[in-house]
Amino acid sequence: MTVIYDRVALIGLGLIAGSMAHAIREGRLAREITGHARSAETRDIAREIGLCDRIFDTAAEAVADADLVVLAVPVGAMGAVAAEIAPHLKPGATVTDVGSVKQSVIDAVCPHIPAGVHFIPGHPLAGTEHSGPRSGFASLFRNRWWLLTPLPASDPDAVARLSDLVRAMGAKTDSMEAAHHDLVLAVTSHAPHLIAYTMVGVADHLRRVTDEEVIQYSAAGFRDFTRIAASDPTMWRDVFLHNKEATLDILGRFTEELFVLQRAIRMGDGQQLHDYFTRTRAIRRGIIEAGQDTAAPDFGRVASSGNPAPALPSGSGHG
Ligand code: NAP
Repeated sequence: MTVIYDRVALIGLGLIAGSMAHAIREGRLAREITGHARSAETRDIAREIGLCDRIFDTAAEAVADADLVVLAVPVGAMGAVAAEIAPHLKPGATVTDVGSVKQSVIDAVCPHIPAGVHFIPGHPLAGTEHSGPRSGFASLFRNRWWLLTPLPASDPDAVARLSDLVRAMGAKTDSMEAAHHDLVLAVTSHAPHLIAYTMVGVADHLRRVTDEEVIQYSAAGFRDFTRIAASDPTMWRDVFLHNKEATLDILGRFTEELFVLQRAIRMGDGQQLHDYFTRTRAIRRGIIEAGQDTAAPDFGRVASSGNPAPALPSGSGHG
């Protein structure tokens, strides 16, 4: 592999930045990786495991002289971090982010980006329910989509270079408009996460979550909800607060569909249920044909064998 950026600075050292550090190192895609996290605890762990070449106590020091700066903090923190690093960015550098919501990040970050620095928002559609500096792994992005939402003024060469890095980390890349991204993700990720949180909440209300039987016999249904509902609370709070309109739109439609199915059950309309489930099964086949999951039983994972590592980087756990 060839070096794509001389120095990459990672701001925020959790699952996504950590995975980037591993993937960049594995592919020798940068000469140096610098890093910063807000808490001393995370910085200490990152130093201990050698996550980056150098970890700095301030974001300003970490971004100095960096050719690529990656904002890998919760969506609601992007604006403040951008304000902090802005005076220290090198002219000609690229700033990108990995936030799960794009329009609100653009609104928060753009005003701070100095002239001569390129801001190219992005979002890797890859994740797990784990977080923190120890949770990253080099193959997280392999065969996953990494969406970029360049701005009309984005420099095509800077976009092409960032796309090269993304592809070199194993991801597939595509560009789309930020508002469209937020609507698509509301359907594919944000609303499903809220439904998982709700379902686990319902079971909790029934005081059944910790019942041995519920866990033991939960198989792929409830067990998968609990996995998704274990995702980072700060990250997901911010996703919903910052993708409010699109998420509420999708949840409104979801509620309507739920009532349709509820009525079919009440009326004993088996035909309607069967037709509905036939349509949804075809969608699952489409996902497999598109290479976004495997057709292996148990969703291709190995959790039931007691192995904590996912067989695939989980597509359904991303933001
Ligand atoms: P993570 O593992 O929880 O790490 C978050 C990092 O952000 C930590 O280093 C944390 O610092 C720092 N941070 C938290 N709050 C902050 C604040 N208010 N100001 C400055 N720094 C703060 O999170 P992650 O999963 O890597 O997510 C990072 C970003 O990627 C988020 O925007 C998320 O939406 C996006 N994303 C996540 C996934 C996923 O599945 N996890 C997928 C795609 C995109 P401390 O450790 O010092 O607290």
